[in-house]
Amino acid sequence: EFGTLAEVIGQQAKERADKHALVDAKSTMTYGQLDAFMDRMATALQREGVENQGVAAVCATSSVEYGATFFGILRAGAAVAPLAPSSTPEGLVGMLKDCGAKVFFLDKGVSDALAGVADQITAQRVALDGSDAGIPLTLWLAPEGSKPKPVTVTPQQAFNIIYSSGTTGTPKGIVQPHQMRWGQIRRGVYREDAVTMISTPLYSNTTLVSYLPTLSNGGTAVLMPKFDAEQFLKLSQQYRATHAMLVPVQYRRLMERPDFDSYDLSSYVMKFSTSAPFAAALKADVLKRWPGGLIEYYGMTEGGGSCGLAAHEFPDKLHTVGRPLPGHDIRLIDEDLKEVPQGKIGEVVGRSGAMMVGYHNQPGKTSEAEWYSPEGLRYIRTGDVGVFDADGFLTLMDRKKDMIISGGFNIYPSDLEAEMIQHPQVLEAAVVGVASDKWGETPVAFVALKPGATVTADELKAWTNGKLGKTQRLADLILVDSLPRSHIGKVLKRELRDDYKGVAL
Ligand code: ATP
Ligand code: MG
Repeated sequence: EFGTLAEVIGQQAKERADKHALVDAKSTMTYGQLDAFMDRMATALQREGVENQGVAAVCATSSVEYGATFFGILRAGAAVAPLAPSSTPEGLVGMLKDCGAKVFFLDKGVSDALAGVADQITAQRVALDGSDAGIPLTLWLAPEGSKPKPVTVTPQQAFNIIYSSGTTGTPKGIVQPHQMRWGQIRRGVYREDAVTMISTPLYSNTTLVSYLPTLSNGGTAVLMPKFDAEQFLKLSQQYRATHAMLVPVQYRRLMERPDFDSYDLSSYVMKFSTSAPFAAALKADVLKRWPGGLIEYYGMTEGGGSCGLAAHEFPDKLHTVGRPLPGHDIRLIDEDLKEVPQGKIGEVVGRSGAMMVGYHNQPGKTSEAEWYSPEGLRYIRTGDVGVFDADGFLTLMDRKKDMIISGGFNIYPSDLEAEMIQHPQVLEAAVVGVASDKWGETPVAFVALKPGATVTADELKAWTNGKLGKTQRLADLILVDSLPRSHIGKVLKRELRDDYKGVAL
């Protein structure tokens, strides 16, 4: 039996009309209000010609209105294209064209950023914040009490088009079908008593895997327009938060606060992390000082196979990303696209009921991302390199694009970073390969030190190289204030490589 998320919210509204579905610093919305909002929005979208299988785009900071808009678009049977406000104006115009949205929801901040390219946007603009960014939302919505035409949605129909983070290149529009989201909300981790802190941006898949299940199970989502460690702790305490999805760098910012232990976080049941490497020592610290469990997920927006590590259950596996989730099959393949034996390193490929349809308008890129098993089953290639241990836990090494091939040897930057982070004065480290006449490529480290640190670049390089194998040794080490990160907190190694102006090696 197949019910859409919009129908599920309608059901929640019948069962708990007066309960808060959405909360932000400025306003709240109950399930009853959300359901009515969705009707008004879906009716207005149909009026504007966005019907079943159409597309509407949203680009704004998180708010109650944004959170509700996501479901309003779904009620019309249309796909949501949530775009990142941090994109360049040209990038946003490109994504708007690519997704084909007829209606574009935005706020003042985004409108200002788009000022220079406004004439290239053909979609109707609706201002979520009531500003002059477009037609104010309240005027644009259909009148109270409106009911949209009912739509029939199929499991393989587009639910959303999410543009990839662009960590490794130009963003690709990933078409996720309804069926993929359906699998995620049924995992059973969020119940009706969930109060989930949403402090990563709503347009990211990382956020949606926590936001959508919270609401479809009748919980409350507390939305933060941007992450702030102190604010996060205060709101967690105020709302007696039970769940949070945070990226590793946010865990670090929270744990390094001197006042962390003074907050009452006893309401927490489960915390989640995904999207970037999460150091074992940091996981251990979170487990020790923050009540409730900790689950790390490994996966990608494209879907395929995902892993999960219940860190509280497996304290000796914190260096891994856990085992494949139920219904997820993960294999490792070599350069010749042949499966590697257990214990050997290979590229991660995975399949499950949660897989993208493909990259929007890019059939060539889609087929590059697919791998077919000898039995003819479709898997998604991750571009990540990893290895399974004898207990079936996956250890991730690096993205293939970040691996360094030096003098014929494979160097995994994660091995070097793990050594460097052991130094008491090192806050964060990233290793990238740069071109070398002698070795082809050679490793260079970028390091941010802890406040008050005194170690010099030369000393740290010597200390690190003393711990590494001969082929792994750093050719250069550069001290930086902080590492460049994407909007979702991933280290942008591409930028480090491009900006490196060191000596010819
Ligand atoms: P793009 O594809 O545009 O370069 P992206 O790959 O960063 O961007 P996402 O789909 O958000 O976009 O991220 C998926 C990737 O994030 C994975 O392929 C993996 O490299 C990394 N990742 C996800 N979860 C984890 C994790 N638990 N530990 C380490 N890395 C992770
Ligand atoms: Mg990717």
